[in-house]
Amino acid sequence: MKRIDILTLFPDMCGAAFSESIVARAIKAGHIEIECHQIRDYTEDRQGKVDDYPYGGGPGLVMSYQPVKSAYDAVLDKHPAEDGCKPYTIYMSPQGTRFDQQVAKRLAAKDRLVIICGHYEGMDERVIEDIVDEEISLGDFVLTGGEIPAMAVADCVARLVPGVLASSEAYENESHSDILLEYAQFTRPETISGKSVPDVLLRGNHGEIEQWRRENAIARTQKKRPDLYEKYMRREREANTFYFDNSATTRQRYQVAERMARVSDVLYGNPSSLHGLGFNAEKELVSCRKNLLELIGGTGSGNIYFTSGATEANNWVFRGILPANPRLGKHVIVSAVEHPSVMESALSMRDQGYEVELAPVDSDGRVNIERFTAMLRPHETALVSIMHVNSETGTVQPIEEIVRAVRSIKPDTIIHCDCVQSFGKLDVNVKKLGVDLISVSAHKIHGPRGTGFLYADKRLKMKPLLYGGGQEGGMRSGTENLPAICGMDKAAGIICKNAPGNYEKVSELKRIFTDAIRDGLRTYVFNSPENGCSPYILNVSFPGLRAEVILHTLEQYNIYVSVGSACSSHKKDRSTVLKAMGVDNVVTDGAIRISFSADNTKAQCEYASKILVREIKALYALHSRSTRKQQKQ
Ligand code: SAM
Repeated sequence: MKRIDILTLFPDMCGAAFSESIVARAIKAGHIEIECHQIRDYTEDRQGKVDDYPYGGGPGLVMSYQPVKSAYDAVLDKHPAEDGCKPYTIYMSPQGTRFDQQVAKRLAAKDRLVIICGHYEGMDERVIEDIVDEEISLGDFVLTGGEIPAMAVADCVARLVPGVLASSEAYENESHSDILLEYAQFTRPETISGKSVPDVLLRGNHGEIEQWRRENAIARTQKKRPDLYEKYMRREREANTFYFDNSATTRQRYQVAERMARVSDVLYGNPSSLHGLGFNAEKELVSCRKNLLELIGGTGSGNIYFTSGATEANNWVFRGILPANPRLGKHVIVSAVEHPSVMESALSMRDQGYEVELAPVDSDGRVNIERFTAMLRPHETALVSIMHVNSETGTVQPIEEIVRAVRSIKPDTIIHCDCVQSFGKLDVNVKKLGVDLISVSAHKIHGPRGTGFLYADKRLKMKPLLYGGGQEGGMRSGTENLPAICGMDKAAGIICKNAPGNYEKVSELKRIFTDAIRDGLRTYVFNSPENGCSPYILNVSFPGLRAEVILHTLEQYNIYVSVGSACSSHKKDRSTVLKAMGVDNVVTDGAIRISFSADNTKAQCEYASKILVREIKALYALHSRSTRKQQKQ
């Protein structure tokens, strides 16, 4: 920041703030230039008027466009920008961004500022439209004019300009520079009215002083500003938590919680109700459905039915949609590596006379196209269900090839794809994939738990799984969970917009782990394939060790992963996925899954992978000592 120009009707008032003390000295020393300009000098009105009555009536006067715009242009003519760009221009307004230290830091980073002060009832809106980059408010109250706010902003920004204060330390450690308030300060004399300066400040031990100040800052923030304390504690928790279990669930985005709270508060009507509140809720529901349909490229080709999550959607495919299409046949194929919600639902249909076959996978966990194609029956295969990304290994299935094979042999076979681990991460476009049904869960994309959807091609015959009030076009009864659906819509919008960037970032994070394991260990097996794998998942085995032991060892460092060895955390049986891939039991028993999200950072991964390697080495050392001991006995 080199220069601040203030446009005002009261330049003497503003100027007074900069004629004394620190800022005045800084101006004199050439660290910054601050100049106040009289707007009235630029009016073309013969009586010197700068304001007029508002159109449409109402109290007070409004500052006119012409004098402000002419004053602005004159300032730019007098002090042209070195780079020819317009200076960052702010209008002081109770309607603007709330000013705080972070905004001040942002403004201080600009080369130059122009601050416009309003007066009376404010300013002709077109001034704001034409020249203002940002409206800034001093707080949620109304002053008579913008001069006091402009002085506050200019003073605060000027303090941050190098050279204005004797040392940058002065503003680097003070209140609001980060989150905490500044610690208590004392000066001579040592004792006043029986109150003494804390002993630690007199002992001259800088480490102890530092420690006391930090604790004091935390304690007084907790007492004086519980809101900031809460923020500080949350950040501390986050900084010390290394969450790599994102395929199990993700942390909900705060924007999601905000939207859900707003919807719960305002759109609380039942979307099925006939009154206005119901209508507004329904409008929101329709908009979420439309947005989500667009995100999966399903506009015009099918519908989205909101469910309690992908488990319900997957159950519906087998137990509702399959029986609604009896003429398609009684043969069903699912891959051997499906999620239990697909696998168990599919197998349950054997009781109803369906023949359910499992398509085998290769050692990468990928469906073998030739063997799969050979399983298809031209007159009998009613349904094929293959997941997009395997939740345990990250293997990406060749869905488009699978679809081509199915369509060439029996075009009317229903094709379902569980997209729980791919939606928002890889390209999920129902038309490109060519599938009829997909399932999605919100909590895997930083949305709320307990909500998801089933997309269904509109040509499909459907039967509900849940009967009742006839919601979702009669297909899924039960009052729609509108706040959660809106939360899912928000989460989906954010993650899909950022998907390409996230993909790059997460690929790099996964690489940090794979490099650390390769460089630091001799015994390991990557169960996730090197090619054709989602970067969000890394399944790695440490043969001879037990996955539960690794998990709890890492947990001591607040590093959270999951076991890749069990078929689900509630079941003790070995992973059916690794078994289908032909992985040896000893390798399976030592498998952990590290799953990423864009929230993970490089620093987190560097730290966690270092700890992982160190702890695995230690576990192996312990393991070989106890094996030797056993052999001796
Ligand atoms: N009628 C306006 C409104 O309701 O938003 C308020 C106008 S106020 C009386 C006059 C001027 O004072 C504003 O144009 C603005 O420049 C300044 N002002 C008043 N309160 C402010 C605040 N909290 N922050 C920044 N500027 C403020």
